[in-house]
Amino acid sequence: MSADILIQGLEKRYETATDDVVAVADVDLDVAAGEFVAVVGASGCGKSTLLRILAGFEQPSAGRVTVRGSAVTAPGPDRGVVFQDYGLFPWLSVRENVAYGPRRRGASRRDAAARADHYLDTVGLTRFATRFPGELSGGMQQRVAIARVLANDPAVMLMDEPFGALDALTRSELQTQLRRIHRDEGRTVLFVTHSIEEAVYLADRVVVMTGGASHGVPGHIREIVPIPLGVERDVTGTDFNALKRTISALVHERVATGAVG
Ligand code: ADP
Repeated sequence: MSADILIQGLEKRYETATDDVVAVADVDLDVAAGEFVAVVGASGCGKSTLLRILAGFEQPSAGRVTVRGSAVTAPGPDRGVVFQDYGLFPWLSVRENVAYGPRRRGASRRDAAARADHYLDTVGLTRFATRFPGELSGGMQQRVAIARVLANDPAVMLMDEPFGALDALTRSELQTQLRRIHRDEGRTVLFVTHSIEEAVYLADRVVVMTGGASHGVPGHIREIVPIPLGVERDVTGTDFNALKRTISALVHERVATGAVG
């Protein structure tokens, strides 16, 4: 299988007024076409930095990042990004929000609306097409945001804590829906989350990051854990919980700083 995302020797430094912080270093990762990869780790280990670089919002200090063979240097329609705050246009209807990307890329009004309707159906929001974002719950707005990204037909979907602001029940509904969409559409997904359970539920592989400036070592990949669970995942199952424990131990492991004393 070919890699949709290829990261080699990635390093990111931030220059602050007083300091030069190496946020992440030595990150190598490849994500195959159609694969769902989750990234977990404690705050500050560089998860968002990694995602922002892939999105093209920030430049790497060293290393190489490519999506379907093209070097990432700026945001582009080949990468659809979903954040925790839905980022919808409040003055456009739900359908217009989803049709916006296809319209911008030259689709006729009619084709863009048809495309929007298709993806609103995918996320179960057909009935709300003419509503405005402010009239919808947070979970529904996030579903619009996902439909909007799908309508752009991106090579990869980059998701940064997309369900972090939702209540537990809504979050679990959206997880189930995202799993189905991923299965049906065969999209390549890189998904950043604090929740180990969410990662094990959704992903084919879980990337565990550790370190970070507050640990005195740059954020880096500690381990990549394959999730050999089937399509139907039982969050109360023995295998599921064993994987959660393994990943939790890696996330919480004391980071070796090499410091003396
Ligand atoms: P995570 O998403 O895992 O919580 P981040 O990628 O947000 O981690 O941050 C990684 C490290 O980089 C942290 O130490 C953070 O303080 C630092 N950092 C992130 N963005 C900036 C910035 N714009 N300027 C300086 N330091 C930053």
